[in-house]
Amino acid sequence: MNTISDYHVHTSFSGDCSIPPETMIEAAVRGGIRHLCLTDHMDYDYEEGGVCFEFDPKEYLRRLSLMKEKYADQIDLAVGIELGLQPYLGKKHHNLVFSNSFDFVIGSIHLVHSRDPYFPSYFEGREEDAAYLEYFQCALQNLQAYSNFDTFGHLDYVVRYGPNRNRFYSYDRYREILDEILRALIRKDIGLEVNTGGYRYGLDAPNPCREIICRYRELGGRIITLGSDAHDPGYLAYGFGQAAELLKSCGFDSYFIFHDRKPEEIGL
Ligand SMILES: [Zn+2]
Ligand SMILES: [Zn+2]
Repeated sequence: MNTISDYHVHTSFSGDCSIPPETMIEAAVRGGIRHLCLTDHMDYDYEEGGVCFEFDPKEYLRRLSLMKEKYADQIDLAVGIELGLQPYLGKKHHNLVFSNSFDFVIGSIHLVHSRDPYFPSYFEGREEDAAYLEYFQCALQNLQAYSNFDTFGHLDYVVRYGPNRNRFYSYDRYREILDEILRALIRKDIGLEVNTGGYRYGLDAPNPCREIICRYRELGGRIITLGSDAHDPGYLAYGFGQAAELLKSCGFDSYFIFHDRKPEEIGL
């Protein structure tokens, strides 16, 4: 791809990342990334594993605005956020997004009825299928509850952590619910994120998988965003070449970045 834009990256503002924003930005500059969006975790009411996924948005915007200036001649830095969606949090997210000027907002599901599939307990005592289905049902429920975000993060995140991961998983198995989710995204003008973290997790696929990305296009979806979900500088833009080829094979010839919540198209 000609222009590399990584629009899903974490820094030490995230509870699960210790890399200072400066370190991440400088690594991105060295890696030839043209457009970088930092998207730290804001997961209200996250009570698993003893990690707090909340930060002070004013301090975040203040610090990163200074960095936008500082690195302006080296990289186009955007300030984003990854919201951890839960159906009852709509009002809180609305207030957060409207009182802070983010460039880009990712809506992601990390918690299904307060449980994160990251932990094996999410899968205990039931079939993998049921656990995956519950995740997708929760995704749809969230989309119906709140949808002021620009792209939907790692739509099949749950597959990263299932006992068999993506061995028996396919779009066809969950076609009905996935189509409902994709149609809701298209209707609401929300993008679909291609999260290359899946490659890092050994899935040999991004999240979501290729069939879902192709299906999004088939149904009329156009807004693809691209993110590595790096929590470490070594994973910036990880697998982007592979993801670009995959996108082309689904019929896409561009993807989108955002400034001030407005989409800008970039050729693949
Ligand atoms: Zn996430
Ligand atoms: Zn993330």
